[in-house]
Amino acid sequence: MSNIIAIVGRPNVGKSTLFNRLTESRKAIVDDFSGVTRDRHYGVSEWTDKQFTVIDTGGYVANSEDVFEAAIREQVVIAIEEATVLIFMVDVTTGITDLDDDIAQLLRRSKKPVFTVVNKVDNTALENEASVFYGFGLGEIYTISSMTGSGTGELLDDVITHFEDVPLEENALPKLTIVGRPNVGKSSLINALIGKDRNIVTPIAGTTRDSIHIHYNQFGHEFMFIDTAGLRKKTKVKENIEFYSVMRTIKALEEADVVILMIDAEEGMESQDVNIFHLAEKNKKGIVILVNKWDLIEKNNQTTKVFEEEIRKRLQPFTDIPILFTSVVNKQRIFQAVETALQVFQNRSKKVPTSKLNDVMLPIIEKYPPPSSKGKYIKIKYVTQINATSPMFAFFCNLPQYIKEPYKRFIENKLRENFDFNGVPIQIYFRQK
Ligand code: GDP
Ligand code: GDP
Repeated sequence: MSNIIAIVGRPNVGKSTLFNRLTESRKAIVDDFSGVTRDRHYGVSEWTDKQFTVIDTGGYVANSEDVFEAAIREQVVIAIEEATVLIFMVDVTTGITDLDDDIAQLLRRSKKPVFTVVNKVDNTALENEASVFYGFGLGEIYTISSMTGSGTGELLDDVITHFEDVPLEENALPKLTIVGRPNVGKSSLINALIGKDRNIVTPIAGTTRDSIHIHYNQFGHEFMFIDTAGLRKKTKVKENIEFYSVMRTIKALEEADVVILMIDAEEGMESQDVNIFHLAEKNKKGIVILVNKWDLIEKNNQTTKVFEEEIRKRLQPFTDIPILFTSVVNKQRIFQAVETALQVFQNRSKKVPTSKLNDVMLPIIEKYPPPSSKGKYIKIKYVTQINATSPMFAFFCNLPQYIKEPYKRFIENKLRENFDFNGVPIQIYFRQK
C-alpha cells in the first residue's frame, strides 16, 4: 500500500518550494549528515502519523523549449496513473495560463483525487484573486503560500484522508524487491532466479496493478518478489523514463520488506543510488546491496575491499549493510544474494527478549553513561523492544531530552554489535520513566 503525493504543474508555480517544505523538516532530522541529496525530487514526509512519499514532478523536465510542454503533459498522465493523490499547483500571481488549462484538462479525467492548490497567496488580499481557479472545474481550491507555509496544514489534513494505513500482515511471506537504475541487471537477476516461470505472471496490458507478485518457492526458500521491471512503460520523452522508473521504485519499495539495491560495478554508487538507499532506510526497509556486473571489473586482491569501503563511505552513518559482488550473467553469488536478503528479513523481524536486552545493554550503559548535560545526571533504567514491523527500542530514563545524537549512535552501535541487525534500520527512543 503506497501513499504517494505527486505535485504537478507548469514551471515556476512553486512546486519545489512546497516539496522542500513538506520533506525538509524530516530530512533535517533524519539525514543531517549528507549533502548528497541535492538532485532528489522525491522524499518521505508525514502528517499526523500518516507517512507518505512526495514527488516533485518538475524535477524531471529539462527546460529545453520544444520537448518541455509535451514532457509535462506526459508526466501528468504518468502521475495520474501512479500517484495516490495529485496536487495541481497554480500561481495566483499569473492567473490561468494555457499550459495550466492543458494540465487541468488531463486532470479532469483522473479517477484519483486532485487537489487544486493556488500558490503564492502570501497575504489575504490575494485570496480573492484565487477564485478564478474555480474555472478549472476541479472542485475545491486550496490557497497556500509555499514560502511561508500558510494553508499547507489545511491542505494536508484533507489530502491524508485519501491515504490508507499500511496493513500489518501477520505470517505473510517475506516480500523482496529488486531496485536500481535502468540497465543495472534487475530483470536479468529476476529471470536468472525465476526462469521461465516468470511468463506465467506477466500482467495484462492496461491493468491498473502496481506490481507483479512472484511466488518463489525453490531450494528451500519461499518468498514473494515484488517486481515492477516488466511493467516499464514506453515513453516518447526521455526525461520521463527516469521519472517513471522512480515512481515504480517507490511503490515497489513501499510494498517490500527487504530491498535489494543493485548498483553497477562499472559506474559505482551514484547519487541516484544513494537516494534510493535513503528512501529505503527512511521507510525502515531491510537493505542488501549488490554490486553487479562484477565480471566486467579487472580485479586484484584489494579490489573488493576498496569497492566496499567506497560504498560504505557513501552510506554513512548507516553502514551496517551487507554488500555482495555479483555477476548475474555468470550466475555468481545470485543465490547468496537471496539468502542474504532472507537473513536480513529475519533480522528485521527479530524480537529480542527484554531480559536479554537489559542483561546486555545495562552493563554497557553503566560503564559508558550518557554525558551529564547542564549539570543534570542522566540515568537510563531499562530498555525494551517495542512491538513493531521493524526494530524499535525504547530506553527509559529520567531526562530523555538531554540525550544527544552521539550517544544515541553509540547505543545503536552497541545494539548492532550484540544482536545481529545487519541490513536493518533501527529506531531508538528515549522516554521518560
Ligand atoms: P517550480 O518550478 O514549480 O518547482 O517552482 P519553484 O519552487 O522553483 O518556485 C518558483 C519561484 O516562485 C521561486 O522564485 C520561488 O521562490 C517562488 N515561490 C514559490 N512559492 C512561493 C510563494 O508561496 N510565494 C511567493 N511569493 N513566491 C513563491
Ligand atoms: P534492468 O534494466 O536493471 O532490468 O537491466 P537488465 O537486466 O535488462 O540488464 C541490462 C543489461 O546488462 C543486459 O544487456 C544484461 O545482459 C546486462 N547484464 C546484467 N547483469 C550483468 C552482469 O552481471 N554482467 C554483465 N557483464 N552484464 C550484465
